Amino acid sequence: MIVMKFGGTSLGSAERIKKAATIIQSKLDDKPTIVLSAIGGVTDLLIEATNRAAEGKVDISAIKKKHLEIVNELGIDTSVFAELDEFETLIRSYSGEVNRMQMDEAVSFGERICTKIMAAYLIKEGVPAKAINAYDIGMATDGQHGNATLLDSSYTNLKNQLSSISELAIITGFIAKSPQGKITTFDRGGSDYTAAIIGAAIGAKEIQIWTDVTGVMSADPRIVSNAHTISEMSFDEAAELSYFGAKVLHPKTILPAVEHDIPVIVLNTLDPTVMGTRIVNKSEESKEIVKAISGKKGITVVNVSTSRMIAAPGFLADLFGVFAKHQISVDMLATSEVSVSLTVDNAEQLIPIMDELKALGDVTVAPNHAIIIVVGEGFKKQIGKAAPIFEVLAQNEIHVEMISQGASEINIGFVVEEDNAEKAVKVLHKHYFG
Ligand code: ADP
Ligand code: ASP
Ligand code: MG
Repeated sequence: MIVMKFGGTSLGSAERIKKAATIIQSKLDDKPTIVLSAIGGVTDLLIEATNRAAEGKVDISAIKKKHLEIVNELGIDTSVFAELDEFETLIRSYSGEVNRMQMDEAVSFGERICTKIMAAYLIKEGVPAKAINAYDIGMATDGQHGNATLLDSSYTNLKNQLSSISELAIITGFIAKSPQGKITTFDRGGSDYTAAIIGAAIGAKEIQIWTDVTGVMSADPRIVSNAHTISEMSFDEAAELSYFGAKVLHPKTILPAVEHDIPVIVLNTLDPTVMGTRIVNKSEESKEIVKAISGKKGITVVNVSTSRMIAAPGFLADLFGVFAKHQISVDMLATSEVSVSLTVDNAEQLIPIMDELKALGDVTVAPNHAIIIVVGEGFKKQIGKAAPIFEVLAQNEIHVEMISQGASEINIGFVVEEDNAEKAVKVLHKHYFG
């Protein structure tokens, strides 16, 4: 058994859907379970239409047009339009500010329609397929809309329910339901995570992530044109990269795969013969120290300084207590005798905690930063590994504000101004890979 997940980039047109369907048909002997995102660009269109509807302007013509063109070209019937009418009725009922619960229900239509289109097309091609909403077979989360947390009961429920489905299951990525029966989502890009959860639930041999690039690359190919595909990497390396900006995998994807030791393979829908990237528990010893460089923008640096810190046990606990109480996650941390610098990726989260932080010391907040990370298992053995990174940055006049080396010792991360993020990735890529 394998899981095959196709992202929006693999489903953006009738031609791409046909390519994905051909790939699925070629793997039927591996007993695949299919997970799909919405058609490329549709989630954004649904969000836009929903926000506009709340302001009193209901217009779903762009969404209808996109689906109609695809359905016509695939030569399948237009029953998806019942779903679109349902979407229109739903957003017509929204007014004023749309809350996250309402937005989750609205965006769910992207995946719900896409799976129906793929199932209809595969049936037309002679493959007995069935579109399934993940929440109808046990995908359950808490009620944190927009970024829900999986309930562990999902694993057993999904396993049991999927075992009784005889057709090829085409399952919605990204969406689930809360115990209150409301639709929830794993934040943007979350279909990768759905695929990993389903892979873990059914004990799949492999979780395949089909996308528009040839695998996980040494840098984002939109930034570094000569980035190369990494043939094999460890779960740890992939987790660091995806958390710090490599959009090719959603950061939560690796977790269920690690827990069940299932390889994740990233493959290219546009060129299915390419080997792609194999992400495994322990990757082969590689010659290179560095595997990849990635960057995450939109970072805010918070600096808290006070002389109270000197020989004052408990200061850090108090500081992190504030972040923990408000469920704000901190990405990077550096401390000195009199100050603590840390980063968060959502500046708005800081507003309600400012008073509590100011009670601990002088606080400065600097938005518009980026975290850049250099990743590689080879770092573990390398002495003096940080030196070349900072030499290259200095030569290129890129000012570094914070430096951190993860406890896992497989990455070195640092903070730069957002405007320097792409330059930093480019010069480091050139240094390590030419
Ligand atoms: P999908 O719709 O298939 O989920 P995404 O757009 O979410 O696709 O992810 C694929 C994109 O991730 C690629 O087109 C690429 O631009 C981007 N990307 C960023 N960093 C990397 C990286 N290190 N390796 C590969 N792709 C990357
Ligand atoms: N369709 C969702 C999004 O655009 C989920 C996904 O693509 O994985 O974020
Ligand atoms: Mg994605």
